[in-house]
Amino acid sequence: MNSMPFAIRAHSATNPASCSSAPQGATGAFTDAFGVDRLTEAVGIATDKLTRMLDSDALEGVSLERPQDLLAEARALMTTQESDSFDAERFSDILDLYIRTGVKLNSRGYMARQFSSVAPVTAAFDLVSAMAPQPASFYEVGQLANVADKIIAEEFGRRIGWETGRFDMVSTSGASLANMTAVLVARNRRLADSWKAGVGDGAGGRPAIAMGEDAHFSVSRIGGIIGIGEDQIVRLPLDARRRICAKGAAAALDAAAARGLDVFCIVAAAGTTSVGANDPLEALAHLARERGAWLHVDAAHNGAFLLSDRLRGRLAGIELADSFCLDAHKTLFVPAMCTLLFYRERGLAATAFPQKASYVLDPQEDEMSRFESGTQNFECTKRPAILNLWLAWALFGRRFFEEKLDYLTELTDFAHDQLNDLCDFAVAHRPESNILCFTHRPPGVAAADLGRLQLELRNRIRADGRYFISKVDLDGETVLRIVLMNHRIGRADIAGLVEEIRQQAAAIIADWTRQGVAA
Ligand SMILES: *Cc1c(COP(=O)(O)O)cnc(C)c1O
Repeated sequence: MNSMPFAIRAHSATNPASCSSAPQGATGAFTDAFGVDRLTEAVGIATDKLTRMLDSDALEGVSLERPQDLLAEARALMTTQESDSFDAERFSDILDLYIRTGVKLNSRGYMARQFSSVAPVTAAFDLVSAMAPQPASFYEVGQLANVADKIIAEEFGRRIGWETGRFDMVSTSGASLANMTAVLVARNRRLADSWKAGVGDGAGGRPAIAMGEDAHFSVSRIGGIIGIGEDQIVRLPLDARRRICAKGAAAALDAAAARGLDVFCIVAAAGTTSVGANDPLEALAHLARERGAWLHVDAAHNGAFLLSDRLRGRLAGIELADSFCLDAHKTLFVPAMCTLLFYRERGLAATAFPQKASYVLDPQEDEMSRFESGTQNFECTKRPAILNLWLAWALFGRRFFEEKLDYLTELTDFAHDQLNDLCDFAVAHRPESNILCFTHRPPGVAAADLGRLQLELRNRIRADGRYFISKVDLDGETVLRIVLMNHRIGRADIAGLVEEIRQQAAAIIADWTRQGVAA
């Protein structure tokens, strides 16, 4: 077998005598893999499996396999010969393995995480955009993607209360990246030389950023990434609802200043990962302004509430932030990754990466380059994920998002009220999102064993395979956590989960008693 089959074949095919009906420069596996027939065949197989997946009403969580077993299984599916033709059976087996080992996002048992099932038409469009990409950073190759950015920005602007043309929005790949990009803009504003000269101490002291105790790990990581240093992260205390306490924040900023720190950016959250709490944005915006700091809001999870008349109020004050981001791949139900990063003032987006022009980035602004996002985001090649969001909006309108969000948050309130009424459950908070944390406290379990019980419950429920829930540690206490992302989940499923938890707890306690560990 030739070690460079493509190169050799491509070369020989440049000789017209070697061409028959096959396209120029391609024969064998090459033609087969790229052939039109392969598209119809593969899409047919995939559609068949996805249809069955969506049609299923089975209660399924996740089926976890041991990594070594899965590795062997995946290896066994790889061809051992230089196959010349598409092996439909192998393709089908690979898809089966993928779907089997994936989270069952469409099942009523899936309550564990922030991933959403996606609107099927957006997934269909994802196939189209994968086959016919519009690399979204550059206008000349990603025209519709860059136009869609502008339309989505305008639609959101109306909901935020910002005037079209007076603010910036860029789409990017994940809130982790969006948070970092926004803090970079804040850094470049405070330390004007830092992009060129590196980060040193400024006139106000050693540069620092502040964030809540419950900030997402992607936010606490930013200190290390942008050269501020982890030690210069100031943690802001939380109130009883696990929101940043504005008074406590002011005191923490005073203490930081006394230590010689110059806090140039405060990162708040709208929808903390642990409990979905919304920080008091209005108070924090005033505090930031008073201290000359930038306010960025990590609204990855709850930012989508902007689209709901009922939920918009939970984000009061977000319009005062200097920047905020939201994840459409979480709470706007489109394929990952699709993140929107907003800046309150026009022109700020361009200050994240203040590089001089290169071969792709035209220094002369014109009609087309004004639509181009390449200078404003980290990615070079960027999938046109924004088009999934625009497509869903174009087809179904804003109400589509609003209805699902309203339903999921109401269902979470219902779950809260139900659990709150049960003597053997304790809710950890009143939900401000579609996230609820709670503990199961069956009679007879000592307080010291409750944390261990929650952890074991999460594990056994997951292993049982019907429900999938998560756990989180709140101030050292382990609690169970549900995130209701799936509109198929109904009130009866909350009752079903309660029964599952009670049964698993009884089994755990019986095991503990048998082993003499605890009673
Ligand atoms: C999910 C999430 C992130 C990380 O977002 P990615 O899109 O996964 O990069 C950051 N912050 C919060 C609050 C989140 O919920």
